[in-house]
Parts: sequence; C-alpha cells; structure tokens
Amino acid sequence: MKLDPIKLSQDLIRIPSYSGFNAEVIEFLKNILQSANFSCDILEYDGDGSYKVNNLHAVFNPQNSEKIIYFAGHTDVVNEGEKAAWKHDPYSATIEDGKLYGRGTADMKCAIACFTSAALKFIAENKNPNFGIGFLITNDEEADGVNGTAKVLDWMQKSGKKITHCLVGEPTNPSKFGEMIKIGRRGSIGFKVKITGRQGHVAYPQNAINPITILINLLKILKDHKLDAGTKFFDPSNLEITSITSQNLGGNVIPNTAEAAFNVRFNDSHSSQSIIDLVKYACEKTVGGIGFVGATYELTHRTSGESFLSDPKFLAPIVVDAVKKITGQTPEMSTTGGTSDARFIKNYAEVVEIGLVNQTAHQIDEFSEVSEIEQLQKTYLEILRGF
Ligand SMILES: [Zn+2]
Repeated sequence: MKLDPIKLSQDLIRIPSYSGFNAEVIEFLKNILQSANFSCDILEYDGDGSYKVNNLHAVFNPQNSEKIIYFAGHTDVVNEGEKAAWKHDPYSATIEDGKLYGRGTADMKCAIACFTSAALKFIAENKNPNFGIGFLITNDEEADGVNGTAKVLDWMQKSGKKITHCLVGEPTNPSKFGEMIKIGRRGSIGFKVKITGRQGHVAYPQNAINPITILINLLKILKDHKLDAGTKFFDPSNLEITSITSQNLGGNVIPNTAEAAFNVRFNDSHSSQSIIDLVKYACEKTVGGIGFVGATYELTHRTSGESFLSDPKFLAPIVVDAVKKITGQTPEMSTTGGTSDARFIKNYAEVVEIGLVNQTAHQIDEFSEVSEIEQLQKTYLEILRGF
C-alpha cells in the first residue's frame, strides 16, 4: 500500500480532534493500518479523575520477532483559539506557498502521517521483516494525559506485547528539520517556602524575628549552591527564584511572614527526591540558625517530571545517520524542552523523539513546510531500513 504523507496529513488535519474521546480520528488510522495487515486494538480508558480517551495499538510482526520498534504519537490537538484570526480555516489543511496550514500540522499529525506512510512503504518493500513494527497512538497528550500512553503501555506489558525501541514524532527542531532529535529531558520541580518569624518594631529588632532576613539568606544559599556541572547530554541543573513576597505593613514594621517560590530544572545526576532533600536541608540549617530561634518554615513542592535519559546506544545513532542522509545535516542529540509521552515510554524501551519544527506549535496559523514533511517521511523510512 502506498500513502502520500501530504495527502494523509491533510486527511488527519481535517478531522478536528481535541483531547479525549474522538472515535473518528482513531478509527481512521486503525482502518489504514488494518488494511496493511497490522493487528489493531482500540483501547478505551476512563476514570482516575479524568475523561474518557480512546487509543490505538497496532502491530505488524510476521516473524514474531523479539525486536519491535514502535512509532508513538498523539492525534489530539489543542484548541484553535480565535478561528477568525487564522489565515485559513484551521481544519481546512490548506497548502499555500509550500506550507501546509492547520491545527496539528507541527504538533503532530503530519508526523503521524509520515511514519504511517513510511511504515507501509517499508512493509511493501519487505514483506517479512526480521523485526516488528508497532504503533501507539493516543488522543490525549495535550491535556490530562491520564488515560493515554501510560495506560496503553501498562496494558501492553500485562498482555505480553513487547516494545524494545520507540520513535516519538513530537516536533523536535527549533527552526529547520534535521537540527535536533531528543533523547531525554530535564526534570522539573517547583517549590514554595513560607518563613514565619515574629512581627515587631524596626527600632527594636531584638524583640522580633525578621522572616525576610531568613528568606534572603536561604535563597542566597540555594542560588549559590552549584547543583552540578552538567552531564554528557545535559546542561547543568539550575534553580530560578520566581517570586518573593511579604506582608507590606509599613516602613517601621518587621513582618510576621515572608514567602518565596522557585523552580529547579534538574539533569540525570539528580532525582526530585534528592533535590527535595537538599532544599529541606538548607531550610533546616538557615531557619534554625543563630539569631533566628523561634522561626519556622513551611515547604511545599510539586514535581512535574523526573529527568530521564534514554541511553543512545542503538536507535539514536540510526536516527542520526538517517537524518544526515536525508538532509545532509548532523542533528544534535538534545535533552531540552518541555515534557512529552516519551517520559512514560522510556521505562520500557530506548526512545528517540524526532519530528518537524516546533516553532508554530499551538499557535494561530500553525504550519509545516511541505518539503520538510516529505523529508520526515523519508527519514522514518531510512530509520526502518537501518534498524
Ligand atoms: Zn505534541
């Protein structure tokens, strides 16, 4: 079966599919894969504090191989916002001046079209490959992400469906296809700390405990502490202070409390727990320090994701070679950017993210270059050939 990646991209964009249940887009892909002899399951999950989502699992493994490469992605898109502000209807998939416009072009329906097209072309050329090819498509990555990829992976493990390698089609390039692939991500954790001292007159500081002084000391210690010098694939971890507040009672009053918020982006030499331990230790030492007896602190934190690195031992070099062959450019193996479903997949398989340019993702007039969609399809095909 031959599928034009541009035509397929347009077909997918023309089915609006916000996060959650969208039978149409998932069925559409299922029908294509089923007619190419993939064995398909539509997995519906609901509950756990979130809405119902349908997901697609498909696999082609004629030799029952141990080695299986998956293509993973999401069909859901973020809202188009003000429709009238778009140059073209966001669901018309209009091509103008070599650009395909529409919600979900960059993020990430064109990538789904590209890997579907590439997989089918590869199978047409190699009827009996010595590895399996799978698809893990969710319609919930942009919103809650509760009933999507994580649950499909769990289902796969429980039902004995193997996955050894995975390509995620999220947009990975800052401005041009071929610049960047991703092999991991930094972790992120946000903190809030509230220091309670003792209110008093600025003229009689001996009768008060100034929480602002304590807070400044604490933040200075935290900010000056070098978390690490960076690791092979990661920049140094970094702490940024995002707010400092206190009751503004007047020029002659020492306030009772002072608060601050800060965020830490950390690499693979830390975990959220090791960062929490470090911050707690700094709080203990500073708040209980000389002259501050009686002051207390409250610390809260929220981890948005652990750092991870998918060891680039087998798949990543193949991806780099494929990109080089198609674009002439050597892509950087990066760990920058926000989170994606790769954070779930890395627990099961070597995962590499490679997709289009992320510049217009989630924006009005989101687009992808037609020539780059063609390059991405060729790159996925090249990866399968090299696998
Ligand atoms: Zn995305």
